[in-house]
Amino acid sequence: MSERVDVEQHRADVAELLAELAGRPTEEVSVHEGALGRVLASDVLAPGPLPRFRNSQMDGFAVRAADVASAGPGAPVTLPVVGDVAAAPGEPAPLEPGTAVRIMTGAPVPAGADAVVPVEDTDHVTFNHARGDGTRDDGAPHGSATSVEIARGRQAGEFVREPGSDVAQGAVVLRAGTVLAPHHVAAAAACGIARLTVRVPVSVAVVSTGSELVGPGDEPGPGQIWDANGPALAAAVLAAGGQVGLRLTVPDDPEVVRAGLERAAALCDLVLTTGGVSQGAYEVVKDALPEVAFRSVAMQPGGPQGLGRFAGRPVLAFPGNPVSAQVSFVVFLRDLLRQAGGLLPVRQVPAVLDDAVVSPAGRRQLLRGRWVDDAGAGARVAVVGGPGSHLVASMAAADVLIDVPAAATRLDEGAEVMTWPL
Ligand code: AMP
Ligand code: MG
Repeated sequence: MSERVDVEQHRADVAELLAELAGRPTEEVSVHEGALGRVLASDVLAPGPLPRFRNSQMDGFAVRAADVASAGPGAPVTLPVVGDVAAAPGEPAPLEPGTAVRIMTGAPVPAGADAVVPVEDTDHVTFNHARGDGTRDDGAPHGSATSVEIARGRQAGEFVREPGSDVAQGAVVLRAGTVLAPHHVAAAAACGIARLTVRVPVSVAVVSTGSELVGPGDEPGPGQIWDANGPALAAAVLAAGGQVGLRLTVPDDPEVVRAGLERAAALCDLVLTTGGVSQGAYEVVKDALPEVAFRSVAMQPGGPQGLGRFAGRPVLAFPGNPVSAQVSFVVFLRDLLRQAGGLLPVRQVPAVLDDAVVSPAGRRQLLRGRWVDDAGAGARVAVVGGPGSHLVASMAAADVLIDVPAAATRLDEGAEVMTWPL
């Protein structure tokens, strides 16, 4: 007779077994490739200020605010335009009092200028100097000069982006634990950061056991079925921030199972098996792994569970029914894997039952549920499919697992329940 424990006890025991997965090693990835979706290992500090230098927020004219203070309706101020500054390499000459330069968005604001008048508030006039000798007043060999009429005054600082006004040098620009998305990559790249330090994901071996299993794309013979757990758990591992270091399908032969697990333990941080842990004959994982403790957890589905160590690696043995295997992952492993990879756990969501449910006494039930009108806290959730742990297609219609407490034998429509998002 195997040991009986409740769900919380098994969760705690799995957490203890997997404690070694915390404190993952880190690696560097380029902001150009490989950063997307990775988890930042530490805070990223701005190596310099952003913006890097004082620059213009508008296309317009850089001026001294004092020179245009009197501009107003019907009384524009006219200033000679002594040059152009584009968003281009180089440092503009300082602005002399009583002059303006035409400036483009992002271009450095010349020393001496303290405001930018947007082009919309100006009339930019080009005129010819009729000197006949082909030179300008300043002797330049061009026949034209420009001036600008400024229709309204500006305060010092207006439309000027100060260095560090986005992020100061040394300030945190990205927090540890950030799952890198395009807007994070933008901030890092803008700060001149070429490489980011991210966590190395936990590597998981996913081992499906069962002589009846054939792989995706293979043709099943009589009595054979397609392996659902291998692909399902591989996807679950990836979704929880892990990586699949090895995927194996092994027959119900203890020798072959042990050999497969030796490989798995050599390659991966954690070994996950499905099948072969119930009370029947040919329970191959039980037979193959005397090192592992097999127990009955007071839940449905997912009752038969194993945990222990093989060849130095933690092993979790999930039951074979596809619904049981997936529920086991959600309830026992998902959050631990996420946290080991630097992600936050998935919050459980309170919901309101759309149907009455009956449940066996003394066993926590995890029914498949679907949001009815809208999703999220306080929304109504309907039971999908039956309690059978083989109902893999019904589960595909579910959004959540509905958590029916062990003590409950019946919950009425309208009862509040907790749900586990899938
Ligand atoms: P077991 O725990 O090995 O007795 O498996 C319980 C049930 O789940 C049996 O009907 C198996 O055929 C089925 N099963 C086991 N492993 C898988 C799998 N990887 N994919 C789909 N069904 C499975
Ligand atoms: Mg089996």
